[in-house]
Amino acid sequence: MHVWEQVLAAFIAIGGLAFFQAPRWAWSLALVAATVSVLWNQPEGGVGFSILTQVCVFAVVIFLITLVNVTKIRRLLLTGPLFKLFRKILPPIRATELEAINAGDIWWEADLFRGRPPWKKLFSFPKPQLSVEEQLFLDNQVEVFCSLLNDWEITQQTLDLPSIAWKYLKEQGFFGLIIPKEFGGKDFSALANSTIVQKISTRSVTAAVTTMVPNSLGPAELLLAYGTEEQKHYYLPKLASGEEIPCFALTGPEAGSDASAIPDIGVVCKGKYRGKEMLGMRLTWDKRYITLAPVATVLGLAVKLYDPEGLIGDKQEIGITLCLLPTNTEGVEIGKRHFPLNQPFLNGPTRGKDVFVPLDFIIGGVPMAGKGWRMLVECLSAGRGISLPALSTACAKHCYRVCGAYAKIRKQFHTSIGRFEGVEAALAQIGGITYLLEATRLLTLTAIDQKIRPAVVTAIAKYHMTEFSRKAVNHAMDIHGGRGIMLGPNNYLGRSYESSPISITVEGANILTRNLIIFGQGILRCHPFLQQEMQALSHPDQNEGIAAFDKTILQHVRFFLSNVTRLFFHSLTAGQFCSSYALQPLQAEIKQLSRMSLALSCISDFTLLLLGGRLKRRERLSARLGDVLSYLFLASAVLKYFNDFGDKKVDLPYVRWTLQTCLFQIQKAFLGFFHNLRNPLVRFGLKCLVFPYGRPYHGPKDKLDRQLARHMMLPSQFRDRLTSNYYLGKKEKDAVAVLEYAFKAMVNLEPLLAEVEHFGKTTVEDRGNLSKSLGMEAIIPLALKEGVISKSEANEILEFEHARRRAIAVDEFSTEQLQGKKV
Ligand SMILES: Cc1cc2nc3c(=O)[nH]c(=O)nc-3n(C[C@H](O)[C@H](O)[C@H](O)COP(=O)(O)OP(=O)(O)OC[C@H]3O[C@@H](n4cnc5c(N)ncnc54)[C@H](O)[C@@H]3O)c2cc1C
Repeated sequence: MHVWEQVLAAFIAIGGLAFFQAPRWAWSLALVAATVSVLWNQPEGGVGFSILTQVCVFAVVIFLITLVNVTKIRRLLLTGPLFKLFRKILPPIRATELEAINAGDIWWEADLFRGRPPWKKLFSFPKPQLSVEEQLFLDNQVEVFCSLLNDWEITQQTLDLPSIAWKYLKEQGFFGLIIPKEFGGKDFSALANSTIVQKISTRSVTAAVTTMVPNSLGPAELLLAYGTEEQKHYYLPKLASGEEIPCFALTGPEAGSDASAIPDIGVVCKGKYRGKEMLGMRLTWDKRYITLAPVATVLGLAVKLYDPEGLIGDKQEIGITLCLLPTNTEGVEIGKRHFPLNQPFLNGPTRGKDVFVPLDFIIGGVPMAGKGWRMLVECLSAGRGISLPALSTACAKHCYRVCGAYAKIRKQFHTSIGRFEGVEAALAQIGGITYLLEATRLLTLTAIDQKIRPAVVTAIAKYHMTEFSRKAVNHAMDIHGGRGIMLGPNNYLGRSYESSPISITVEGANILTRNLIIFGQGILRCHPFLQQEMQALSHPDQNEGIAAFDKTILQHVRFFLSNVTRLFFHSLTAGQFCSSYALQPLQAEIKQLSRMSLALSCISDFTLLLLGGRLKRRERLSARLGDVLSYLFLASAVLKYFNDFGDKKVDLPYVRWTLQTCLFQIQKAFLGFFHNLRNPLVRFGLKCLVFPYGRPYHGPKDKLDRQLARHMMLPSQFRDRLTSNYYLGKKEKDAVAVLEYAFKAMVNLEPLLAEVEHFGKTTVEDRGNLSKSLGMEAIIPLALKEGVISKSEANEILEFEHARRRAIAVDEFSTEQLQGKKV
């Protein structure tokens, strides 16, 4: 055998062993075979190795084999020292950080992270569907509730929901959507909860937030998960009926994103409550931004609890504790309001100093004292996948409908503005984003409705859906020009635009969520070995720690080597042999997603090797890998939606647009990651490993953008399905309904309008410049007179023209009206 043949054979053998994750004995056998082959199979004319060399080489081989296969020696010489080194350099993890990391469950995102997504599993998740009762509630109560709302009046005049709407919310059980029937609630699914909030939000963000807060992170959810039986029986029926209005106060002036640093305290002591001497807590707090606080009757409160006298145990610093206080408790200060970006949902501060309350006010009682942080992060693991994704999807659906319609009816340069390429690009973004958000909303809810709390998935959903929604509304504003800027009852976009930073900020501000949480928590939770390794490293008994570490690290190495060889192979073959799924005609795209999933798994391990604990500080690198995981998840949501609901022909352009966007974003994130690695060799090596032939993904072409934009400018079943659960209102009083009417009328009348316009043009030419200003209203009588159109056609066109004018009209106010806001 020639030397190059030997090298090639060794290369293939090592690749094969690594690729298939061969056991240690197979590696050992291969090593022996390779050694024998090199030492004894000399090429013709070659000079053989001396006996001494052969003995030395064999000694090294035997040593290596012993080191890898004999547990005691391995632990003594290899994994033990590694264990000690890692233990020394591992950054300390705070208890609150650990609780946040460990909160919730892992789900489909873990499969994506591990580089071998089993696509069949994705398509076997249940198809999301509302129950008959939930659908009836949406079609009746939610519809009626929406009809009671006038967002302009709410946001500009009354700065609150009308009292009839408050009454309706309470009477119809809107505040008890998540409360079980035995406590008088609706016991609706997360899908129903989200869909209800979404529909209300298409009418009024203020009303949607008011409805969603009692049904999301707050007293009801905490009581359900952790409350004592007594607390549940006392509070839940009252919360369900709206007799009690809840709020939950965690944030304060000094503790926002770093909520675990709250300075608010509770001290266990004896005192008097309502005339009775008892053991209780003296609470002092200063909270702000608390939604519903100004009207709350029951205040959920997070404080750090101390027990200096050891009255309830032997711990002096008990930790974050969640309490529930009636707001009429002496000393509770509540009532003023903040004004969040013209969305007058009730939000305000609350304070209290040395307020004495019984220990029974701790949610879950004394046994749950100090467990507040875990309770919160666990609830957040599911909760942030429901409300804000619902608001974001509602916003995108709204933009989809109004922009498609407006781009059709609004003409400039005698052309519907949606036919200009620049506007097409903006429309296509809205179309693709809406598809992506509805799909992601549904996939996320599928997990939550299976009683899974997918912490990483909900962080992905929260961050990307609120960001995409902000993008959609920005495009919508651009498409509407001045029509979107002039506030007033006719403006159906301005308030959505104003509200988008709220969604970005609450339930984990977005910069933090992207830079710190998604990949930070993702790698720890989804990596098949890392968590076990960390547990081993923090084991109090060193020997047991080494034993556990030894077991996991070997599996980890095997997994890593396999990933590297697989990625090498799949990158060289451009993903042609990656796993796929028989979802016609998207097999090629699925293969590319499999390839990128493998790349993520592999690069994550390289990142651990290169940065270790420093990754926490290199937030932007972490954010980029988080983007890769996120776009893999978003793309799988699109595939699942297409599989469950898609019309194979009509949906395809949207599916292709979203998948191409996701792959392009994945590529951008990887390239950004490589570009910012400090070592040029590593940078080059990793880039070649993932993209050996340069950039494979290019994003949607202009042609595809046009396809989406044109489609959005036509009424269709698809449009109604994608934007389902949208409150349209009535043509007589609602600007959106007027636009919808004008849009549909224009599409129906298009041939007739063309005829009349042509007639108008020729008439203008006949009559010279004087008549150039002839509008449709002036042409119609002439066209009627000359028999170009019938009377009924003339009426239809006039009605359309009237609606079109209304649809492009903006509001006007006197200065007095604006000053007094009585408009
Ligand atoms: C309208 C509204 C309603 C709210 N309702 C409630 C409620 O009902 N109950 C309640 O308890 N709270 C509520 N909040 C508070 C909300 O959860 C906080 O605003 C949020 O946690 C962010 O805190 P902050 O505003 O103080 O921003 P800060 O913590 O000051 O953050 C400022 C910026 O720094 C970034 N940042 C911070 N740390 C990091 C980091 N390590 N890495 C990268 N970036 C970082 C953040 O992402 C953010 O962009 C509400 C807030 C608003 C605006």
